[in-house]
Amino acid sequence: MIEWLGSQLSDLGARTEIFHDESGHKANLFATIGPDTDGGIVLSGHSDVVPVAEQDWTSDPFEMVERDGALFGRGACDMKGFIACAMAMAPVFAARDLKRPVHFAFTYDEEVGCIGGQALVSDLKTRGIAPGIAIIGEPTGMQIIEGHKGCCEYTTHFHGLEGHGSAPDRGVNAAEYAVRYVTRLMELREEMKTRAPRGSRFDPPWTTMNIGGIHGGVAHNVIAGRAEVEWEFRPVTSEDMSYMKEEIAAYVSDTLLPAMRAVDPRADIQTETIGEVAGLEPMAANAARDLVAELTGANGVDVVPFATEAGLFQEMGMDVVVCGPGSIDQAHKADEYVTLDQMSRCLDMLEGLARRLS
Ligand SMILES: [Zn+2]
Repeated sequence: MIEWLGSQLSDLGARTEIFHDESGHKANLFATIGPDTDGGIVLSGHSDVVPVAEQDWTSDPFEMVERDGALFGRGACDMKGFIACAMAMAPVFAARDLKRPVHFAFTYDEEVGCIGGQALVSDLKTRGIAPGIAIIGEPTGMQIIEGHKGCCEYTTHFHGLEGHGSAPDRGVNAAEYAVRYVTRLMELREEMKTRAPRGSRFDPPWTTMNIGGIHGGVAHNVIAGRAEVEWEFRPVTSEDMSYMKEEIAAYVSDTLLPAMRAVDPRADIQTETIGEVAGLEPMAANAARDLVAELTGANGVDVVPFATEAGLFQEMGMDVVVCGPGSIDQAHKADEYVTLDQMSRCLDMLEGLARRLS
């Protein structure tokens, strides 16, 4: 699909680059129509979808079906509808003498932690490409979204030393260290409530943290040699994101590990990152918001509870909004769809963009 999109865009004269991942099986696409300058507009979409396993679909999820004024298929609203609109308008962009470039940024593996997006952003930095604005086409019903929390998920593994339950001091109890770790996380969670930005519109307004699972140990009378904690937090600011990570890492290196290793130098705590998606922080000045408001006539902006690739582009110094066709209510479900009305509103926005840039 990425190769096909790339060749379509190349045929229109776009400068097209395909960046493969290490396996060579997945790739990001970055293509530019218009002048070779900074300050362009990125149209961003992810090419992957979530699985359809155990979902009861009326029709083949991988065969698009049109009925009742809507297009049905896996990824229809999340967010292949937006990619289709961007591709449909590519000839219109190509036919105009654009004063600012339009970039097509299509990524892989967004659904599993914005893996492709992170790679794309670092490739753009390496090449010194600095667009000014990004429109992330996740389904918002074509409303302007200027903020969402980040989402950081981890599994922390505790490696202790097993022994008989009657001699706890001779072992390193991984379950007990996991409990201390969780206790520290919960202290940090309370502290986060005091750090909520003024006027935060998120619900709740602060960075949240959740313990999703604790596993470990084998029997009542055995010192637990292994334990793991599954946890996540959803930062409202990049400061909270780094603070939480630094504080828990410091507790591990300064307090937990020295205590564990005093008994057994092989004891360890390893945190595995499942996914780290930065939030999109609402900004007082946001050229993307002003532009999309002008193009769509939308006069309100909102924040949403789901995470997108937007934060990655914001970290690059770009002004960013999320705005795309369809509803997040249909995403990830059986009989996912996007209405033709939403698609035509998106096409109108992009057509307006082509006029605005030329
Ligand atoms: Zn999506």
